[in-house]
Amino acid sequence: MSDFQERLAATQAILERIADDFEPAVFASSLAAEDMVLTDLILRKKLNITIFSLETGRLHAETLGMLDKVKETYGTEIKLFKPDATAVENYVSQHGKNAFYDSVEMRKECCRIRKVEPLKRALAGNKAWVTGQRRAQSATRTELAIQEDDATHGLQKFNPLADWSEDDVWHYLRSNNVPYNPLHDKGYPSIGCEPCTRAIQPGEDVRAGRWWWENPDSKECGLHVVDGKLIRIKQAV
Ligand code: SF4
Repeated sequence: MSDFQERLAATQAILERIADDFEPAVFASSLAAEDMVLTDLILRKKLNITIFSLETGRLHAETLGMLDKVKETYGTEIKLFKPDATAVENYVSQHGKNAFYDSVEMRKECCRIRKVEPLKRALAGNKAWVTGQRRAQSATRTELAIQEDDATHGLQKFNPLADWSEDDVWHYLRSNNVPYNPLHDKGYPSIGCEPCTRAIQPGEDVRAGRWWWENPDSKECGLHVVDGKLIRIKQAV
């Protein structure tokens, strides 16, 4: 068996264990390439893991289009968690719709309202959550474990693609005819909210297009917390 086939078999086994031993379990999908690998593995096998996305209200049309693609391909609707409408209204009326460009604090507050609080709601009452994070995505993810205790949210967190390479991801998507976000073909290896994501140039770090106007040390969205600390998204060296 090739190394890739071994990693694939291990990932399938992890997902089956989560579905069997950690009910109810959820998978947080950003609808990006890694998450489409996991979506395909979960829905093809009809595993008992609910898939959800954070619909921040600022996503690209291409990303929203993936919701329809998933429904067409698998007959399954991804559950959406949206920000509290009053909190968004207050932020916009007090600071402006795009105040996240003004300061790190304003950016973190926008992420808190549109991502962090909805994520807490999405995870509440579950025993495990699954993410598409990989070690090779950034310098701060090199120690990423397959399974971690998420004390912040009070459940187990699984990163079944932790040891997958980018080539593994694209090999799986192409050989299984899995739909993917067309932004990946336009220079977007990492996709978040539209105003906070841009295409990158060849040779740039894969996450260089996220919050590009900020110092790398401040790049954090609050979704991934390890040992009580937010993971900082630094450019790989
Ligand atoms: S990524 Fe940008 S638009 Fe999205 S929640 Fe964070 S600051 Fe707001």
